[in-house]
Formats: sequence, C-alpha cells, structure tokens
Amino acid sequence: MIPVFGVRGADLRNSFDEGRPLHLHEAIDIAAPVGTPVVAAVDGRLVKLFTSVQGGLTVYEFDLQGRYAYYYAHLDRYADGVIEGMQLKRGQLIGYVGISGNSPKGAPHLHFAIFRLGPEQHWWKGEAVNPFAALRDGETAAVPLVPGLASPALKR
Ligand SMILES: [Zn+2]
Repeated sequence: MIPVFGVRGADLRNSFDEGRPLHLHEAIDIAAPVGTPVVAAVDGRLVKLFTSVQGGLTVYEFDLQGRYAYYYAHLDRYADGVIEGMQLKRGQLIGYVGISGNSPKGAPHLHFAIFRLGPEQHWWKGEAVNPFAALRDGETAAVPLVPGLASPALKR
C-alpha cells in the first residue's frame, strides 16, 4: 500500500537513484502537505521509533517474516498510541507527514525506503531495495482498515 493517505501510484516519481549531498538517495519521496496521515505499507511489526539528524522523526517496521525493513522519515509526529513492538496492519495509521530532520522546509514529503535485512536483523542496517515499482502499482490508502481506529482523515 502507498504509505501516504490519498496518494495514487500515478502521482509518484522514481527518486531512488538521485544524488543527495554525500550519498545516494535510495528512497522514494512522496510529496504531501504537512499533517497528511502516514500508514503502514505492509503488515508487520513496529521495531523502532527513532529521531535522527537527517531523518528527523522516523519509524522502522519489519515485515512479518523479518526479511525487510520499512523506513518512514521526516514525520511531523507519531499517531496516538504508537509504540515500539506493536503489530501493524497494512493501512494502519502510524504518523503524519512533516518536515523534521533535513527535509526541505518548503517541500514536505514522506521519505520512504525499504531495506533487505541481514541475518542479524539490525533495524539500522540493510541493503536498499527500490520500492518504486511496488508503490506505483500499490493501493491508495483511502479508508481505515483497522477496526476501531478512527478514520485517519478525521484525526488530522
Ligand atoms: Zn528522501
């Protein structure tokens, strides 16, 4: 699922191979206004809530098999009740688009990356995979998928 509420595959641009200062981007930037709901791209487990200089407020999710890590960065804030170790359902609200970290302040977006984890399953270490093709064909997050969770659109 495309992890930003209301964004369609046709809206996305492949920014994976773009250069950034001192490194390759190796992620997809999904443009959206500050406060737009960010949802889990897949079923999995939230392994880390982390604040870094570059990524700002971030979430690391592992898929259920622990083979891939999903990284959501530059968040404005986390969703209420989000904690490390919790199970996530695809489409579940985890936070809101923001400009934290080194995000350009005039161009809010979700920085979204996928890493193939090594056998040690360190959340901070993996081999980058380009999520563009999967996102382009991904479902648009438009309805709350978790029973009891208020519509993300109403929680802004
Ligand atoms: Zn980015």
